[in-house]
Amino acid sequence: METRNLVQAGVIAGALGTAFAAWSPAWVERWFATGFYPHWQRGLTAVSNLLPLPWLDLLVAAALVWLGRLWWQALRIPGRRLVSSGRALASTATGAACLYLVFMGSWGLNYQRLPMSVRLALDAAPVTTDEVVRLGEDAAGQLNSLHGAATAFGRQAGEAEMVVALAPAAGTIQRQLGQARPAVPARLKGSLFGQVFRWNGVDAMTSPFGLEVLVNPDLLAVERPFVAAHEWAHLAGYAVEAEASFVGWLTCLRGDPLAQYSGWLALYWQVVAELPPVRRAALQARLQAGPRADLDAIAARLRRGELPRLRLVSWLMYDQYLKANRVESGVDSYGEVVSLIVRARRSTAARRLLLPD
Ligand SMILES: [Zn+2]
Repeated sequence: METRNLVQAGVIAGALGTAFAAWSPAWVERWFATGFYPHWQRGLTAVSNLLPLPWLDLLVAAALVWLGRLWWQALRIPGRRLVSSGRALASTATGAACLYLVFMGSWGLNYQRLPMSVRLALDAAPVTTDEVVRLGEDAAGQLNSLHGAATAFGRQAGEAEMVVALAPAAGTIQRQLGQARPAVPARLKGSLFGQVFRWNGVDAMTSPFGLEVLVNPDLLAVERPFVAAHEWAHLAGYAVEAEASFVGWLTCLRGDPLAQYSGWLALYWQVVAELPPVRRAALQARLQAGPRADLDAIAARLRRGELPRLRLVSWLMYDQYLKANRVESGVDSYGEVVSLIVRARRSTAARRLLLPD
């Protein structure tokens, strides 16, 4: 076997081993999530923040050029196509295996951490509809009372001010959750994929390759603080969607009036989705005109940009991706933030997180 073949076989075997290994959550927590990863994140996000465009865009462009060149060379000589296609296939598989290994080493292993409910020792009794309704009523009350101050704040604060204002809150909650050194917050970057986000109704994503945040260009001012806080929680090593939303919401509670409003608005949206229609209508009736107009504006933004069929396919793919990373509930894990918050409200120890000082 040539050295080249040996290296390729080694890389592919390494990727398969990583994918199917029985990772011990305690080991991942100790050596990766609170060991290597925080140092890696602080360095890589700081470097990524220097560049206004996402590394991910450059990476995708480079990968497409490389793949195009590889396959064009493999297929251009008639008569040797079978042998050269086999080689190109091996190189493509090796490239994919390398990307997967970088994904896992740079961020993806965070999926194998101890769940938040275990780390916070939350009560495991099932969440009742009444508890969800009570949380929704609190959200509606907060939205009604914060709307005026949030609107005033949103008018004067630009994107940069929003990020500067929210970063200390993110650091505070990460420390309260036991992180010795908080994550470096990422700037919110536009991307070549902005249009794809629009079509799919995606608000933002954290790229594991540059540990940077790419956002949908159409986000409204009332959505941005929560979206930023959610993505920063991913950067802080909370890979699971519900956990990132939980930490994002806790961040917003510690922020300015616009951030608080943004956090409650996102939570209200989730709570409404979890309720049966009758309870949902009763909750919606509590909301005053201001917050209701904001929710309508978000729904209109989503409708304007979406291609429903593409959105469906993309969410099915994302569901499979989450399940491949052993998040058994797949995209339903977004709604689990409601359950995390309800269970945290029951626990005396966790309740201190819900009361920003
Ligand atoms: Zn997320």
